[in-house]
Amino acid sequence: MKSVSSYFGSLVFDDRVMKANLSAEVYQSLRKTIDVGAKLDIKVANAVAEAMKEWAVENGATHYTHWFQPLTGITAEKHDSFISPSPDGGVIMEFSGKELIKGEPDASSFPSGGLRATFEARGYTAWDPTSYAFIKGKTLCIPTAFCSYGGEALDKKTPLLRSMEALNKQALRILRLFGNEDVKCVRTSVGPEQEYFLIDKEMYDKRPDLRYTGRTLFGVKPPKGQEMDDHYFGVIKPRVAAYMEELNEELWKLGILAKTEHNEVAPAQHELAPIYSTTNIATDHNQLTMEIMQKVATKHGLVCLLHEKPFAGVNGSGKHNNWSMATDAGVNLLSPGETPYENAQFLLFLCAVIKAVDDYQDLLRLSVATAGNDHRLGANEAPPAVVSMFLGDELNAVLEAIEKDIPYEGTEKTQMKLGVNVLPKFNRDTTDRNRTSPFAFTGNKFEFRMVGSSDSIACANIMLNSAVAESLKIYADRLEKAENFEDALHEMIRKTIKDHKKIIFNGNGYDDTWIKEATEKRGLLNYRTTPACMPHLLAEKNVKMLTSHKVFSESELKSRCEIMLENYCKTIVIEANTMLSMAKTEILPAVEAYAYELAKTAATKKALDAGLACVYESSLVKKLSSIADRIAIKTEELENAMVDLCKTEDIIAQANAIRDIVLVSMGELRLVCDEAETVTAKKYWPYPSYGDLLFSVR
Ligand code: ADP
Ligand code: MG
Repeated sequence: MKSVSSYFGSLVFDDRVMKANLSAEVYQSLRKTIDVGAKLDIKVANAVAEAMKEWAVENGATHYTHWFQPLTGITAEKHDSFISPSPDGGVIMEFSGKELIKGEPDASSFPSGGLRATFEARGYTAWDPTSYAFIKGKTLCIPTAFCSYGGEALDKKTPLLRSMEALNKQALRILRLFGNEDVKCVRTSVGPEQEYFLIDKEMYDKRPDLRYTGRTLFGVKPPKGQEMDDHYFGVIKPRVAAYMEELNEELWKLGILAKTEHNEVAPAQHELAPIYSTTNIATDHNQLTMEIMQKVATKHGLVCLLHEKPFAGVNGSGKHNNWSMATDAGVNLLSPGETPYENAQFLLFLCAVIKAVDDYQDLLRLSVATAGNDHRLGANEAPPAVVSMFLGDELNAVLEAIEKDIPYEGTEKTQMKLGVNVLPKFNRDTTDRNRTSPFAFTGNKFEFRMVGSSDSIACANIMLNSAVAESLKIYADRLEKAENFEDALHEMIRKTIKDHKKIIFNGNGYDDTWIKEATEKRGLLNYRTTPACMPHLLAEKNVKMLTSHKVFSESELKSRCEIMLENYCKTIVIEANTMLSMAKTEILPAVEAYAYELAKTAATKKALDAGLACVYESSLVKKLSSIADRIAIKTEELENAMVDLCKTEDIIAQANAIRDIVLVSMGELRLVCDEAETVTAKKYWPYPSYGDLLFSVR
């Protein structure tokens, strides 16, 4: 068997390959572009393109593509071959610096929310040299950003890179104030833990709801669910283990640091976590991971479900976005240091995050809002839709001591004076206990747990980076002008704690009493659905913050708000249409067929002996008949709701109508159909049951 180190990154044009295949001069200048964003000379670009092509062709590639992340939420690619005709009638393989740097996909069919008129449909893609090119199948993929000719972002990567730059700029100002002159840049790192379900492909194929929408729209809870807690961290079944083994290999070849894998809470649910990396790379890698997860599953006769809620009544899937900030020297700014000064700096960065999360709860909430994630957040599942933070008892006690100017009662009593005392060592285990918090401090990073499993992590990190950049800016503005730095610092940290402690909650986030306290006593926001939170993207304070840091322009924000609401509407309309088709063409006929068989049985029995009552058959036929009538009524109601929907033009009104009328009507139709499933003979039921789907992969 080949060792992992022998093939790790074998499909990536990474630093090792660059060093080996580029002249020292070209390598140095590319490195400068990667490390500090220096402008790339066309001569250098040509040399890089040539080396990239040579390497790619050697590794079996025939095509290249600019690989980008439009607002559809998935990645896009358009393949061009390297071939170019040669005078002798043959071909040569060519790839220029110009082709590497810029691409012009015909992009008229990507959502743009009105940013790009169709007559000038050609947006362009621009190479992101900080994320390595890689080979997928026979294609060299070049990670790129996607913009309109007016320079407006049409993707998720552009604003992500802008938000990283905004945070870098403000964090450097703070570090200078603490006397850190050597730091060249501050980057955010992310390690996204990815949850997913694995089910049998043959069963999946029999369910139109899974095929069209990624989730089951009908289905009765199986006799056994997750109540025994016997799946979480349980022994991995052989078929799943074989899948994970191949998945890891494929990811490792692509240089993705797949690290941890285990069974999750729900039956058939699993998790994969990579080792963290710089945010834009982590984002690219997470998109690739989701793609490869699905691809490898097919090879094993399985389907990988990434939907946030594939099964009602069973835990849904999310993504835990582990986030931190670090300097180019690798110093984690969210790690309490060894000296009083480092501690003070840590506390300031910590406060910046606390302030950011409190001030921009709405942005964080809406950054993870999708039709799919609405089934988790705000429904009967953790985390709740209310954004709050968990810091752990020890850190909390330190903050309280600072706020109230009282001694901190750690192992010994100390008066907390910033810049003088060393913070007590926090035991990682004590900070990591709370599993229900939407935003938890886990020792040296924050874990944002609201992201949906199928969503790109870009949006959440754009908002997080920008909001923290804003806190840091406010701090830097004040501190740069302060006469006494230490006093000003101490005062500012105290003020942050005082003003924003309402966002800190160390209790159980599953608890209903918390929601009551959060909303009624603390005034925290509780936006339970996508239509409820999305319009806040355009709230004045949010537009002001995001435009001032040049993360979004106002028109980009407007278009994104529209696209997100459109996505929400389209998703649910597809679900509703799928339900209607299933109910009318498969469920109703199944119920009728079974009723007919029962009636026939009763008639046959009576023909044999007229005295037989056939109570069982006739009462069940009556019941089935009543259920069929109710399914027909509920189907019609849903159809009418869909017709009415077409009359609303305004996207916000439409999204609200979908949530308040269509979704409710879908719920009612599901209820009667699920009732039908419980009384219809299994051989008549057209679909594999929840039990079949959840317990068949061995
Ligand atoms: P768990 O949350 O299950 O206890 P860990 O805390 O070890 O697991 O790691 C979860 C994820 O957090 C992993 O992807 C890991 O690489 C990532 N992570 C660890 N340290 C950091 C950091 N400083 N910044 C960002 N992510 C990190
Ligand atoms: Mg974790």
